[in-house]
Amino acid sequence: MTNLKVYNTLNSKKEKFIPITDGKVGMYICGPTVYSNIHLGNCRTFISFDLIYRYLKHLGFKVRYVRNITDAGHLENDEDVSEDKIVKKARLENLEPMEIVQRYTLDFHDTLAKFNTLPPSIEPTATGHIVEQIEFIKKIIKEGFGYEVNGSIYFDVHKFNMSNNYGKLSGRKLEDLVHNTRSLEGQNDKKNPQDFALWKKAEPRHIMRWNSPWSDGFPGWHLECTAMSTKYLGESFDIHGGGLDLKFPHHECEIAQAESVNKKPPVKYWLHANMMTLDGKKMAKSTGNNILPSDVFSGNNNKFSKPFSPSVVKFFFLQAHYRSILDISEVALSASEKGYNKLIGAIKTLDSITEKGKAKFNINKWNEDCYKAMDDDFNSPVLIANLFEAVKLINKLKTNEGSLSKDQKLILSTQLNLFVFEILGLKSNDSSKSNNQSNTLEEAIKLLMKLRHNARLNKDFKTADLIRDELSSIGINLKDEKENSSFSITRK
Ligand SMILES: [Zn+2]
Repeated sequence: MTNLKVYNTLNSKKEKFIPITDGKVGMYICGPTVYSNIHLGNCRTFISFDLIYRYLKHLGFKVRYVRNITDAGHLENDEDVSEDKIVKKARLENLEPMEIVQRYTLDFHDTLAKFNTLPPSIEPTATGHIVEQIEFIKKIIKEGFGYEVNGSIYFDVHKFNMSNNYGKLSGRKLEDLVHNTRSLEGQNDKKNPQDFALWKKAEPRHIMRWNSPWSDGFPGWHLECTAMSTKYLGESFDIHGGGLDLKFPHHECEIAQAESVNKKPPVKYWLHANMMTLDGKKMAKSTGNNILPSDVFSGNNNKFSKPFSPSVVKFFFLQAHYRSILDISEVALSASEKGYNKLIGAIKTLDSITEKGKAKFNINKWNEDCYKAMDDDFNSPVLIANLFEAVKLINKLKTNEGSLSKDQKLILSTQLNLFVFEILGLKSNDSSKSNNQSNTLEEAIKLLMKLRHNARLNKDFKTADLIRDELSSIGINLKDEKENSSFSITRK
């Protein structure tokens, strides 16, 4: 038995966390749709659930953590004119859909590894579970909640709402949804606009398609999470999480699909991570108010004037509670960088402090407070504030103010290392290393620019052009302005 409480979106309350099976936790997190590079806001969501996973493991639970890869069937909407996002990208870039999937799955893994997140126990793909999805549709039809129109299968939301409550997670009422939905031409396939696709018949030009009893087609997006969570975690499991934007309609539809077949709630605790804003505005690809993690790490972006390491960005994320909106800005990141360096510095300093006397600081209470913060719905900002109480103590000891006994030092050192590296999942060394590397690169480029400038002054244009062209061939582009040159680094 632990003291952990989690905020359950299902009833908007903090509840005591009691898993369905003693000592074991089944956790399903909606993964990415792999048709583009993962953006920073998505990273925050996965880092939030990494914190939750790490803490559950630390508390001694045996956790099966399932996080899917959506590599098929993610329609922009259910209408006939809409297109699978992966197929669309493949068509635009003239690539096989599976090339798109491979490229962005690698990017996703690579980026999360830089943030030092732990891999899930199982990472199933939608295309690897077409059989399970078809079987699940058959069951939904058998229960009377799915209907076929022209080779496509839809879920009957209105029928489901008569026996169950559609909208219980998002707090929406079906009659309000009906009232607020405009009736559009071209969606005549569905009985009601609120119904959603379980299976879509593929247009002739649609490349990703599978055989089914109804048509050559592909599964609806909501279905894969229900089919895969049921397969790996059972009909009822402990935690289902994802970004807040998935609460409706995605998670609401997952509940409807599962309950229509299994006649019981699929999930005990629904957890949702809040979104991130950039300079106070919603992050979106369409408006350009958006930034890729790699561009933050390299400093090659037009938002921030310097690079920030993955650990600093992660520390910045963890300084906010996962359910709060977080605004990222250069000022905020710089403050986090200072804080992060102070924290890591103090842990290193502690090793060199000689034990003598005894500190007035109540280390056992401090340790309890750290746990209390994490037990209170994974409150990492409060935990970090507590960690800084220890930093203050260490900095005093450094200047020979006060004292610390051997036992106190042992507890402090063990627990600081535990909270910082194991639970928050921070790393101690990448900040200085990546900054040093990018600083050295910048110095080297500036030196070459100076040599080129001198060559041009001496009318040695051959050498000047050689420097420019050689740099360009390795992705560093010099831009000549009137007085000075500047450079940009192209991401490979
Ligand atoms: Zn999902």
